Amino acid sequence: MIESIRCNMARLGAELEKLSSVTEATPPAVTRVVFSDADLRARNFFKDLCRKANLRVREDGIGNIFARWQGSDPGAAAVGTGSHTDAIPNAGLYDGVVGVLGGLEAIRILQEKGFEPRRSIELLMFATEEPTRFGVGCLGSRAIAGTYDEAKILSLRDGDGRNPSEAARRIGLSGEMNALVLSRDYYDAFVELHIEQGPVLERIDLPIGIVTAIAAPASMRITFEGEGGHAGTVLMADRRDALLAGAELALAVDEIARATGSPDTVGTTGMLEVFPGAINSIPSRCMLGIDIRDTQLATRDLAVAGTKLTAREISERRALPLTIEMINSDPPATCDPRIVAAAERACEVLELKPLRMVSRAYHDSLFMARLFPTCMIFIPSRGGVSHRPDEYSSPEQIARGVEVLALTLAQLAE
Ligand SMILES: [Zn+2]
Repeated sequence: MIESIRCNMARLGAELEKLSSVTEATPPAVTRVVFSDADLRARNFFKDLCRKANLRVREDGIGNIFARWQGSDPGAAAVGTGSHTDAIPNAGLYDGVVGVLGGLEAIRILQEKGFEPRRSIELLMFATEEPTRFGVGCLGSRAIAGTYDEAKILSLRDGDGRNPSEAARRIGLSGEMNALVLSRDYYDAFVELHIEQGPVLERIDLPIGIVTAIAAPASMRITFEGEGGHAGTVLMADRRDALLAGAELALAVDEIARATGSPDTVGTTGMLEVFPGAINSIPSRCMLGIDIRDTQLATRDLAVAGTKLTAREISERRALPLTIEMINSDPPATCDPRIVAAAERACEVLELKPLRMVSRAYHDSLFMARLFPTCMIFIPSRGGVSHRPDEYSSPEQIARGVEVLALTLAQLAE
């Protein structure tokens, strides 16, 4: 076991700054939608850095990048780490990036320490973690885990009508979607460093979170069809107003999420689209985008079922036809006790006090956990803020995260 290690924050800080300038928004805001020109520039920047660190780089058809530090036992399953660099419009510079460039820095400081891994250590940059282009998050890791097969991936479209293969080819990727799944013995362990994106670590003033479970997300689109008409001439008794059904359902989602008995259930109606959307016109259609999560599948599914049931009840009572479309419904992940223990041991060596915690946001690790023993390491986010230009973790916080990651990887690869 390595007894000390030091992140080169001057080097990593310069690289973080460089990558933050690769944006389609006005800095400090970062916009890097997958398969855009900014995404392509970020990929090239990352691949160059990996090659400079003597990592062997390959890219799959959907754009996941794998950079491998070859271990002394080439037959042994590798140890994986990594995250994403795509960013939603007007985001910050740390979400995902800390796990990618920080993962690279963890590898470099182990190299500089003279560490010789038995298992190969492989750094990943996942493609299309954010749902901006195709409406579904974590497409790269879903493909790796086989939860989305080729047909499902090719059924997706972006705003220009391109499927992921066509969009990937536009930036020079092969776009082949038929061989993305990794076998279960590809990684012996996977660990992702990420910013918390919540307020817990900052509030209790601890530098490191070790994630023991990742909450299960589900999302759906529910659409009520009503009857439009003139806001002045159609009398109240004759109306079938689709927005009123939507308003009832949005209130119900909030109630249902509060009533499952689990403090971890959360329900959000984040989208409400009203058609035709004119002040003097009765809404003829109302679409709600609803997101429900929990760390326990049973209570999550209870809330999802309750939402559907309530939607049907509203639909019947108001005589408004209804369509329910599930966008995704993923199980939660339990982190691997062996990796949790390795991360805790790393904290002990570095004299840092970690907090065991739950990840309420989901990440590529949720899908990696389908195939591989997985864990996440969190660092604090200032004010719990994320997906905004003022997202911030300090250089010291990032350096501690990198050092914990490095010592965790070293134990797993020994
Ligand atoms: Zn992220």
